[in-house]
Order: sequence, then C-alpha cells, then structure tokens
Amino acid sequence: MSQAPTYGFDTLQVHAGARPDPATGARQTPIYQTTAYVFRDAEHAAALFNLQEVGYIYSRLTNPTNAVLQERVATLEGGVGAVACSSGHAAQIMALFPLMSPGKNVVVSTRLYGGTVTQFSQTIKRFGWSARFVDFDDTDAVKAAIDDDTRAVFCESIANPGGYITDLDVISAIADAAGIPLIVDNTSATPYLCRPIEHGATLVVHSTTKYMTGNGTVTGGVVVDSGKFDWSASDKFPSLSAPEPAYHGLKFHETFGPLAYTFHGIAIGLRDLGMTMNPQAAHYTLMGIETLSLRMERHVQNAEKIAKWLEADERVDFVTYAGLESSPCFKRVKKICPRGAGALFTFAVRGGYDACVKLVDSLEIFSHVANLGDTRSLIIHPASTTHRQLTAEQQEAAGAAPNTVRLSIGIEDADDLIADLDQALSKATS
Ligand SMILES: *Cc1c(COP(=O)(O)O)cnc(C)c1O
Repeated sequence: MSQAPTYGFDTLQVHAGARPDPATGARQTPIYQTTAYVFRDAEHAAALFNLQEVGYIYSRLTNPTNAVLQERVATLEGGVGAVACSSGHAAQIMALFPLMSPGKNVVVSTRLYGGTVTQFSQTIKRFGWSARFVDFDDTDAVKAAIDDDTRAVFCESIANPGGYITDLDVISAIADAAGIPLIVDNTSATPYLCRPIEHGATLVVHSTTKYMTGNGTVTGGVVVDSGKFDWSASDKFPSLSAPEPAYHGLKFHETFGPLAYTFHGIAIGLRDLGMTMNPQAAHYTLMGIETLSLRMERHVQNAEKIAKWLEADERVDFVTYAGLESSPCFKRVKKICPRGAGALFTFAVRGGYDACVKLVDSLEIFSHVANLGDTRSLIIHPASTTHRQLTAEQQEAAGAAPNTVRLSIGIEDADDLIADLDQALSKATS
C-alpha cells in the first residue's frame, strides 16, 4: 500500500509499510526468521556492500519484518525513515551516536524516564559525551545551556513519570536557532496523541516496549527521522556531512539527502553497534500497532476518569495529570497532544513513603512492575524503585518524590480500577 497522506491514522496503523508477502501471498507480515540473504551474484553482493543498491545482506542491518515496522512507525510519526532497535534505551544511544563525539554535549530536560536520567548522567560519560539537565519551562536556561559543543536537545513529549507536557514548539524553535536537532522521546504519548515532527522535532525516539507493542511482551525501540534537518549547514555533524572512511569516502547527506540519517543508522549504527531488534519482536510490535488508536482512546478515557476520582479523594494530596484543569500543563494538551494527555500520571498519598509502599502491596488488579504502557493497569513507587539511584533533588525534579506513586492506567473497566484503588487507599492510610 502506498503511503498516500490522505489515509487516516486508523488506516495507516494497520497497513503502512505492509503488503501481501510477494513470495506466498501471506496477508499478515511474515516473521522473516533468517540471519542472511542469498546474493543474486557477486556483482549484486558488491553493490549491496557499497550501498549502491538497497537490499538485504544480514539481519544485524536489515530484515524484511523489521523493515515493515520501520516504515509503519515512520509513517505514523510523519517521518521519512526509521531504524528499529533492541530497546528504547538502545534507540536513544542510536539517535545520539551520529551526532556526538568525545567532548560534545546534549541539553536535556530534567523531566525524563528514570532510566534515561541514569543513562545520560552516568553512562554516556564513558563515551566522552555529557548531558546538561535543564528545566525546559525555563527557556532562558535552555538557551544558556547550549554552547558550541552542543549537538542536540532532548526531551519527552509527555514526560515520565507523568503530568508534564513539554512545549515542543518553544523548544524546537530554540534548537533551530542554535542549528542543532531536537530529539523527542514520544514513548508515553505515541504518535496517536502527539506528533513531535509537526512541532519541529528532527528526530523522534520510542521505547516500543510500551504503548506501541501495548501488552508488555517484548522490548524494542525506534528512531524516526523527519528528514528535515540540513546536516551540511555547519561542520557540526561530520558523520553525516563529511566523507565516511568505512564506505570509500561516501558522504551520507550528499548521497542520500533526506534519508541520510536513516541510512547512517543502518549502515553504520546497526552494523557497528549491533543494537538490532529481532524479527519476532518486530512482529509482536506490528501486531500491537494495528490497534494503537483504539487502545490509546481507552487508556486516555480511563486515565481521565481515575485522575478526577483521585483528585477528589481526601486520602490523596495531589494528582499530577495534564488532563486535569488543576495541572499547570492543562493548556498545553490542546496544542501538543490534542487527543488526550496520555494514561500515565502520579499522585501523592497522604502518609508519605510508608503509605505508598502499603498501597502498592494492597492493590489487586494493578500490578507492581517497572513497566508502563501495558493493557493491564500498573503501579510503581518510583522513589523505592526506578528513581532509587537518583539524588533527592533529582527525584523531586523528575516528579518522583517519596510520597508519590505512578500509575499506568490500562484498558480494563475504569470502575473496577477505581474500586481497587479505593480499597487499597483505605488500607494504606488507616
Ligand atoms: C521505558 C522507557 C524508555 C526505555 O525503553 P526500554 O525499552 O525499556 O529500553 C525510554 N523512555 C521512556 C519514556 C520510557 O518509558
């Protein structure tokens, strides 16, 4: 099926990138469970290795099942190409890799998934990269943090652990003025709720582990390229603009134009970093994406109902959900994610840390897990788990204070979820 932009989201989530299998007519995308592909002849092999012809060589680089997923996610996000990776964290490293080198920095929001805070504040230092954490509501601070060595700006659209929406229009304008790309982690929103490229993002990353697959079965990640950034406008991005020694001096941007970043991600990133999604995982994720809009609608409906119920309950100190009028981000919902503020939010339990722990242990439908974006409702107490490695200041800045629990609202009956929270809150605060 062609990607005519006239098709709606619901049609594209089922069809984009896929067609009946040319070999068998199989209607569902087959799982191409193969490591390698037979070359037509020696000349064909040479052309593939020289990047003169696009085709399949080895599944660390390309695989037909993954290719369908890549095209589907790129289409839903409004990008030109995508690279599937083994996890969301792999996608983040893959996204930064072509842009960074030792001594370079990335300016990032303080409001991020806990694992990303750790990846950026600790692990990337081993590559000689650094991250500068800034409050993205303080636009002067964002501008001030960018210097000649900054190679990207990074934030989440709807930020984990919930309740905060980044004003992507404002942040992308700052990145644009500085001549560097904005990378948006769109995991919590999905392209159904938010399309960061329409707000000026150059790259979009996903943990497909979450809503995209949707049922907690496989880990995965994707990097989507808008195809809109001019990598040759400055000498800041030599991996994309300068001759590449590993491909006989080929220049990615000059050769592949808007697809430069995607081709680099496959031909250099997957080839040499090897953080490849396996085709089984791509299959599960494709199955999940077929129902993305239906699930997200229910996730949002349930989240709105439960957030309102919690906010009115006297055992609860506050609820941070951008879909509530009390949220400072409420006005951004219409602009950034008009179909709803997602299904991830936090609330503070009267009684603090101990009450939170008791609440988590008393719930029956909600599962206590370090995951989100499942059909099942999930709960976690970030201060004792995902955000445990952070300092008290980092916890507070990330919205993960000791009295706070995070909910990922599933697609069950909202009334059953409310009844479960009700009985558990009684036990936790008695
Ligand atoms: C889970 C998550 C990640 C990391 O993804 P993995 O698939 O677990 O590696 C990154 N960002 C956000 C917002 C997440 O929720």
